[in-house]
Amino acid sequence: MTMPACRVARPKTVEEAVRILADSGPEAMIIAGGTDVVPNLQMKLFTPRVLVDIKPIRALAGITMVAGGALRIGALNTLTEIVDSPLVQSNYPVLVSAVATIAGPLQRNMGTLGGNLCLETRCLWYNQSYFWRKALGGCLKKEGDVCHVAPGGARCWAVWSGDSAPALLTLDAEMEIAGPRGSRRLPLAKFYRNDGIYRVALGRDEMVTAVFLPARTVGRRGLYHKLRIRDSIDYPLAGVAVALEVDRNGVCREARVAVTAVNPAPLLVNEASEWLVGQKYSPELVERVAQAAIRTGKPLTTSASTPVYRRDMLRVFTRRALEEAWKNGRD
Ligand SMILES: Cc1cc2nc3c(=O)[nH]c(=O)nc-3n(C[C@H](O)[C@H](O)[C@H](O)COP(=O)(O)OP(=O)(O)OC[C@H]3O[C@@H](n4cnc5c(N)ncnc54)[C@H](O)[C@@H]3O)c2cc1C
Repeated sequence: MTMPACRVARPKTVEEAVRILADSGPEAMIIAGGTDVVPNLQMKLFTPRVLVDIKPIRALAGITMVAGGALRIGALNTLTEIVDSPLVQSNYPVLVSAVATIAGPLQRNMGTLGGNLCLETRCLWYNQSYFWRKALGGCLKKEGDVCHVAPGGARCWAVWSGDSAPALLTLDAEMEIAGPRGSRRLPLAKFYRNDGIYRVALGRDEMVTAVFLPARTVGRRGLYHKLRIRDSIDYPLAGVAVALEVDRNGVCREARVAVTAVNPAPLLVNEASEWLVGQKYSPELVERVAQAAIRTGKPLTTSASTPVYRRDMLRVFTRRALEEAWKNGRD
């Protein structure tokens, strides 16, 4: 479990980082907090020639209100900084609820938002030592040509296992991405490709610089429920984020529901907004949305838990989260 030998570059500006990425091509890999990259390097999942350590780029950190009332969170802000931020706490409770469940305190102190949004997808057959993988002949994502999860197919089913993305989806977040041709903005919902190998819409020479939460989602009440083996540290096996706007009469004015850890991408439950907006709370309505969450999630045998149990928990979490958000969500 040693690290492969490689050069470490420490750019001080975004432009410099992007230049190194462009010059090094597929041989380069970004490292931020390193809480995902380092274990993956130790397992020889990657052998980059250049590790681009973006931590020295000061412009990548800072949680600030910007023109128009949107919130900008820098790619290098740590998960702890997000949970502790009064601006995030008072305006975007679903994000605090989700980020507080990521890993344990040590990883949250090191791990960054950018790293969390660009995590590698995970799978029982992939996140193993080189020795273990070699004994099996590899898998579609690494060193092989068969997906052990769905052997007949040509698609990788490694799972998106991040917690902040579903919360940010319910807040209509946008990514800021820097590349050799400048900066671009992309809705988070379009950032993920639902493919275990080509997981995000990010060029080899691009990096995430910030996340924007639009002013219209300030004050959306919400929360996140997560299934994991050990509550103190583990990655999600299933997760549901909910954000609602409910008026003083109890009528839902805006709604988003998103699921994670059950597909190669975090996904919005598309029917949720359509069915919930304009309605008052009822157990039947909430159950209907919970059924839609089950249809959105496609858990397979990619982790230590069974697909059936994870699907069941999607339903339970969606129901619970909607009930709680509705109760707490009145103006
Ligand atoms: C024991 C353990 C438990 C964990 N549990 C959870 C969990 O419950 N939930 C969860 O979501 N995560 C979990 N993680 C994963 C990880 O700790 C977090 O996701 C963390 O936020 C990753 O951030 P980082 O800065 O350390 O990323 P890094 O490890 O530095 O990078 C992760 C990936 O993102 C890329 N990257 C980083 N920054 C950028 C950027 N600005 N632009 C483009 N690409 C970038 C890297 O190249 C790499 O591919 C766990 C990790 C461990 C070791």
